[in-house]
Amino acid sequence: MGQSFDISLESLRARSVARPGAAADIVSAASRDGGATFFLETFGCQMNDHDSEKVAGVLLSRGYRQVETPDAASLILYNTCSIREKAAQKVFSRLGEYRTKQSEGQIIGVLGCLAQQEGQEIFKRAPWVSLVCGSASYRKLPELLEQLETGNHRVTGLDTDTDETFETEITRRDNPWRAYLTIIEGCDKACAYCVVPYTRGPERSRASESVLKEVRQVAGLGYSEVQLLGQTVNSYADPSSRQMPFADLLLAVADVPGIRRVRFTTSHPRDFTPDIVAAIEAEPKICNHVHLPVQSGSTRVLQGMQRTYTRDEYLDKVAMIRSAKRPTSITTDIIVGFPGETEADFEETLSLLDVVRFDGMFAFKYSPRPNTPALSMRDPIAEEEKSRRLAVMLEKQRHIQAARQETLVGETFELLVSGKSRRENQWSGHTSCHRVLNFTSQERELLGTYVQVHITSAGPNGLMGEHVT
Ligand code: SAM
Ligand code: SF4
Repeated sequence: MGQSFDISLESLRARSVARPGAAADIVSAASRDGGATFFLETFGCQMNDHDSEKVAGVLLSRGYRQVETPDAASLILYNTCSIREKAAQKVFSRLGEYRTKQSEGQIIGVLGCLAQQEGQEIFKRAPWVSLVCGSASYRKLPELLEQLETGNHRVTGLDTDTDETFETEITRRDNPWRAYLTIIEGCDKACAYCVVPYTRGPERSRASESVLKEVRQVAGLGYSEVQLLGQTVNSYADPSSRQMPFADLLLAVADVPGIRRVRFTTSHPRDFTPDIVAAIEAEPKICNHVHLPVQSGSTRVLQGMQRTYTRDEYLDKVAMIRSAKRPTSITTDIIVGFPGETEADFEETLSLLDVVRFDGMFAFKYSPRPNTPALSMRDPIAEEEKSRRLAVMLEKQRHIQAARQETLVGETFELLVSGKSRRENQWSGHTSCHRVLNFTSQERELLGTYVQVHITSAGPNGLMGEHVT
């Protein structure tokens, strides 16, 4: 399992012949010799990053070896994102760069959301692609690869309605400090702008015991921080007879020996219930950070978006989180320029930023997506106007964040150290509330350890501190 074999570019080229099916020859030859290699590039969100870890695990368990460049690979895979038009364009332009690869004997595969969204269309737009596979079908990858090995030129895995998505024999983890675990797949919400329900399919939760088993496994590997993932992670509904509520699952994960930090993302405001706040308050191992996308500060726009809450209901959730004794940072996502968003609606979102004073924000220009209800909405906003609104929004948030960071000078935080700068004695890490801090320390080796850091200054490059020994 996971044996590594070298197969050089020269030997791959030597075996390649420019005819249909050549790619299959190469992979089957390489597999026979135990030397097939893969290159995997990931676009998009943390869920895609983690899916890629699972895909890499599947391939490694079949004897493939991961390589750093597409040129060195017999199998080139792109795990794609289609959340916005730009993300999708990026994938097609990347695929364009590899149009000659198939004739050079390499197999090109498209995975993830764009694969699911475009399906067989990808073969038309990029005929040099041999494999198209959505996230729900990754367990079938060995089978699909076998089909390629036996001479099929075009194979697809495009089912979405499967709950076989969670368990993989091995997951090759890229992040040495934080282990990701998907606990809920797909989405049953129907936000008018969003492709996720189409690309990732209906909501499927993973049995609590299966989640806890993997947490015990990663703790055994030495991970002390885990992050539970889902498009709407807090809509988790344990399918097993235990029916463990999400808040109890957080507590149970925190209780696993060796675990020191439990994160979760992304939370949907409608399903953010008081028991989650109570769990964060009661258990310091549950990180005091909630990513709670609001999308707009205007109830009228929220209704158009089908977000299922009003501005006031969102503010009630924020008040509930802020009423806890343990201070919790709140970050958000905003979309500007949704069809029909007036200047007054936009002003309401700006005023929401003033009211909430988020600790962090991702803001996006609305991007029309295939298969979404918003596609047919009238009153589109001009691209220049969207850009203007985005710039105004980002500038406002920059001021808010700078002011918030100033108030942290003089405080001490616990960090999990995850970076070492080339400059001597300079390190970086994350707080439980998910702030990144740069700090100085005279210690020689800190990576992967927890340290106390006293914040000494806040500047344009973030927070600076000193290691408190
Ligand atoms: N499930 C999460 C939620 O409910 O907020 C978000 C998932 S999505 C991968 C991440 C973010 O992308 C969303 O919060 C939204 O702000 C943004 N997004 C989704 N569709 C978009 C679109 N069509 N145009 C612009 N931004 C979009
Ligand atoms: Fe998309 Fe809405 Fe589902 Fe989030 S909750 S994934 S924005 S449909």
